[in-house]
Amino acid sequence: MSDLRELYQELIIDHGRRPRNFGALEDASCTMHGNNPLCGDKLTLHLKLNGDIIENLKFEGSGCAISTASSSLMTEQLKGKTIPEALAFFDKFHDMVTTEHSFDTSELGKLKVMAGVREFPARVKCATLAWHTLRAALHGETEAVSTES
Ligand code: ZN
Repeated sequence: MSDLRELYQELIIDHGRRPRNFGALEDASCTMHGNNPLCGDKLTLHLKLNGDIIENLKFEGSGCAISTASSSLMTEQLKGKTIPEALAFFDKFHDMVTTEHSFDTSELGKLKVMAGVREFPARVKCATLAWHTLRAALHGETEAVSTES
């Protein structure tokens, strides 16, 4: 278990330092801002939708290692997925980082490396910021997301 934990930590550190899908997306269909004032994480998420499919997504901003890694892992996971699939991932991810009981996380793929934040309640908002921002964008909301509203 400790080996697994180390592997997970390495993945988080790697994605925190070298985030994937980081930058502007010129042909984005929608852009949403997210803010976690408790930690100072700021995120701008760009989505390119083709009908029901998330053809591409990228993010910009500045945040702690957890929020950056979580955003990076999320963009990797959701590229090419449909909107309902992405919203289902939101629910599973949210459950994983907020509930005590363990459940089958195999469907979450690499995202399960974030499960450890459950033990650090202050970091849960860092890990879920990208996901709340995504959900707001997919629901067609226009107001920026804040974890403290
Ligand atoms: Zn943070």
